[in-house]
Amino acid sequence: MPELDLPAPPRDTLGRPLHDLRISVTDRCNFRCVYCMPREFFGRDHAFLPRAELLTFEEITRLVEVFTRLGVEKVRLTGGEPLVRRDLPDLVARLAGINGVRDLTLTTNGVLLGEHAAALAAAGLRRVTVSLDADDDDTFMRMNDAGVPVARVLAGIDAAEAADLGPTKVNMVVKRGWNEHAVLPMARRFRGTGRVLRFIEYMDVGHSNGWRLDEVVTAAEILEAVGAEFPLEPMPPTHPGEVAERYRYTDGTGEIGVIASVSRPFCGGCSRARVSADGQLFTCLFATAGHDLRALLRGDASDADLEAHLRGIWGARTDRYSEIRSAETTGLVKVEMSYIGG
Ligand code: SAM
Repeated sequence: MPELDLPAPPRDTLGRPLHDLRISVTDRCNFRCVYCMPREFFGRDHAFLPRAELLTFEEITRLVEVFTRLGVEKVRLTGGEPLVRRDLPDLVARLAGINGVRDLTLTTNGVLLGEHAAALAAAGLRRVTVSLDADDDDTFMRMNDAGVPVARVLAGIDAAEAADLGPTKVNMVVKRGWNEHAVLPMARRFRGTGRVLRFIEYMDVGHSNGWRLDEVVTAAEILEAVGAEFPLEPMPPTHPGEVAERYRYTDGTGEIGVIASVSRPFCGGCSRARVSADGQLFTCLFATAGHDLRALLRGDASDADLEAHLRGIWGARTDRYSEIRSAETTGLVKVEMSYIGG
């Protein structure tokens, strides 16, 4: 076979490739987590995206196919809560059928996994990451503000693993004054289960959460708390640009991760792009504006036009927000996490 003369995958202005694509399939969620979609901002009268503005499954599939020509191999579906988007397994099946997509995953709060895990797995989903912010109902319900108990999420994790979507990663955001007391109980619960618990520093994404630096429990504090009961040692990353720093329990009972985007920023290895449910491309989680891809998808742009456009955007990318975070940057009006996709 003659070698096809494909153009090299683009690098941004800091030499970073594009590997991961996170696609938000909805800006709606069945939780109202205090640090993400606080009820006072996301109440009954909140204007979510109208259905006609959401990218269709055909549009998302076309976009992902073009993104694979730029080097994307890993696709994560997120939101909002991705499982509230109707017929999600149909989208999974379409994306799983794209040649360049090597890893297809989903981030979810787990509530609807019991209902959908088997269909998602049958459609070609590989793994799930489930968010769970505490091990006790009082704390968890205060955080999710939707009356959902811990057992409901654990049942979702069980359903995912029964459907072969394991081993599960479990994400816990730690916000001072809310759930730092749950760090150790969560470590105890997941140690020895094969499920990898990852602690996430509370980040200044969006604007509605009124983020303050003193509410961040740092990775160092978390590691100290867990390590005092269960000694830990660092592990090498599984791949370049990995977001979580990995640690294993020295007694061989598993590993945990810390995602220290505030105290130990990792912009240098960031190979991620995000597409909102209405087709805006964001090259940084902390962006204040995106690039409208829906207009191109719904206009007369060919796939080659789309590819050239995306190459141009990625080639011009300069983002390194977490490295330059300061009093001024934290006050910027940034795009909400529920919209851009976590
Ligand atoms: N609804 C899904 C879920 O709960 O996993 C997917 C979307 S959610 C926005 C993705 C992840 O972002 C969750 O683990 C959530 O806890 C996390 N998250 C949201 N706001 C955050 C913030 N301000 N700082 C750190 N993590 C945040």
